[in-house]
Amino acid sequence: TFKLLSEEQERASPGGSKTVPGSEQQPLSTLPSVLPPVHKHGEHNIFANVFKGLFDRKEMCILMVGLDAAGKTTVQYKLKLGEMVTTIPTIGFNVETMEYKNISFTVWGGAAGQDPASVVPLLPEHTGLIFVVDSTDRGRMIEACEEFMRMLAEDELWDTVLLGFANKQDLSNAVNAAGTTDKLGLHSLCHMNWYIQATCATSGDGLYQGLGWLSSPLRNQK
Ligand code: GDP
Ligand code: MG
Repeated sequence: TFKLLSEEQERASPGGSKTVPGSEQQPLSTLPSVLPPVHKHGEHNIFANVFKGLFDRKEMCILMVGLDAAGKTTVQYKLKLGEMVTTIPTIGFNVETMEYKNISFTVWGGAAGQDPASVVPLLPEHTGLIFVVDSTDRGRMIEACEEFMRMLAEDELWDTVLLGFANKQDLSNAVNAAGTTDKLGLHSLCHMNWYIQATCATSGDGLYQGLGWLSSPLRNQK
């Protein structure tokens, strides 16, 4: 089910955050330490509008995963689609979902050691997958790759559309998009529709291009 947020609601509480009753999680708005630096005035509106334009036509779900500190929260705040709802289903992990009209944008919020593959059976059909990688963290690339491959082994994702963000490209020690592709073993996924995009989540560079790529195969799926 997808919730409709009116423009008024959105203006009243831009990017507002709430916690579902019964959830033990703090609302994200009370956790300033996870927030990226304050945006320049009006900047988030540009991203939000672009995003809405790309995905407005159809109900769709996007799941974003990646190791901790890869940059998922930074991406999510940069896009700032609307109200953020944190849910903690009984299955033992929480997901953070932003919903705007027919778009549901979910970030895996499992604790360290929890496998995001366990969320896959709960996803709607034709969920697009975004995998965020810290391209400066060579030491954890293998771990990232393993987590990623475990997830893609789930039957439900056999025909998924996959967007990789090779993130933190602003840092001089970042592996570029081609190098990140190699390290993640993406070339072995010949059956799958995937694309890797160099990004800097803190500035927003590359997010628009990546999402633009993702929106078109998702829109064309029946
Ligand atoms: P998450 O655990 O995947 O949600 O990661 P966060 O979004 O919390 O980011 C972890 C840290 O990396 C934060 O300090 C971010 O400011 C930083 N970060 C995220 N993306 C970038 C980026 O593109 N460049 C740089 N330099 N830092 C980033
Ligand atoms: Mg996070």
